[in-house]
Amino acid sequence: MRITAITDIVVPIASAIANAYIDFSTMTASVVAIHTDVVRDGRPVVGFGFNSNGRYAPQGLLRERFIPRLKDAKAEDVVDDRGILDPFKCWAAMMKNEKPGGHGERSVAVGVLDMALWDAVAKAEGVPLWRLLANRYNNGQADKTAWVYAAGGYYYPQKDIEGLQDEMKYYLDLGYSTVKMKIGGVPLKDDLKRIEAALKVVGGKGENLCVDVNGRYDLDEALACGDAIAPYGLKWYEEPLDPLDYLLHAALATRYRGPLATGENLFSMQDARNLIRHGGLRADRDWLQFDPALSYGLVEYMRTLDMLRMHGWSPRRCVPHGGHQFALNIAVGLGLGGNESYPQVFAPFGGFADACKVVDSRVPMPDVPGIGFEAKNALYAVMKGMLG
Ligand code: MG
Repeated sequence: MRITAITDIVVPIASAIANAYIDFSTMTASVVAIHTDVVRDGRPVVGFGFNSNGRYAPQGLLRERFIPRLKDAKAEDVVDDRGILDPFKCWAAMMKNEKPGGHGERSVAVGVLDMALWDAVAKAEGVPLWRLLANRYNNGQADKTAWVYAAGGYYYPQKDIEGLQDEMKYYLDLGYSTVKMKIGGVPLKDDLKRIEAALKVVGGKGENLCVDVNGRYDLDEALACGDAIAPYGLKWYEEPLDPLDYLLHAALATRYRGPLATGENLFSMQDARNLIRHGGLRADRDWLQFDPALSYGLVEYMRTLDMLRMHGWSPRRCVPHGGHQFALNIAVGLGLGGNESYPQVFAPFGGFADACKVVDSRVPMPDVPGIGFEAKNALYAVMKGMLG
């Protein structure tokens, strides 16, 4: 199996939404296609990848460093014993001459290519990626469905409380029982009104509502909010603090007893390990949201899962950020706790296979080779345009 060409494009994923930190009006994504010489069903296998939302398209990094390194690697250096592309060897080829630390956004560029490599490998094997992962790395055990929750509740311009409630009702109608809303962008007293309005929609059950601060608070604000929301018994309190300030998380965790969630802005196993070592998080209740598409791909994500096991954490505590099919395959194939979902924003990259409906906040997987992009029409329309 040889790589015959790698192409990339940049597409907008602009949304008229904002969280406590950024608006998404100029957000972009890179999409790559890795063409190979393996033929399945009369056509060469092509693997696709993209970066998930929150980071911009890393086109410069892809074109200057990572695509050339992958293309220039000797074919025999990046395949396994059977001659199939080996994502671990490809990863080493891409990371040649990169110093450790200072991960920046090169992890996003590598993540885009890593996604495309796994898609190509699963297609070459003729199996869904979740099945390939379960067989290779999880004793053949795949979950039948994945737990998913609907992320939204942004600060839309002029959106009032009624609008927030309508949005949450819409998610319940789609089959989700757990929903997530943004907070931290307005004074706490106003956010508390929004939270109570959303709670009404989910039947007053705190376990069906998550709140996300996107790293906006300082310690005083995070403690004040934590004290105020503690009685609601929420599913989780997400990114209350700067994602890289582990000591602050440890301080918050001494007082806030409910579950905390964080990790979507940590882009390497080493950063994740520092969070586990120094962030004071609790393996019996807290949630880890590392996004494989932003953090050097599945190769690095498996290193992170190994690290977590060594520190007494179950993969079930992981619910990746991003709402994409790549992480969904990983959740099902490697036994994670579930996956994020964006029913309303970041189209066409958010969301899952068209025919796989959410029931009781769980979604089944399509039985198609690869990650399953071909089973999601709006997304595949973008990818198909790259086949030339
Ligand atoms: Mg978040």
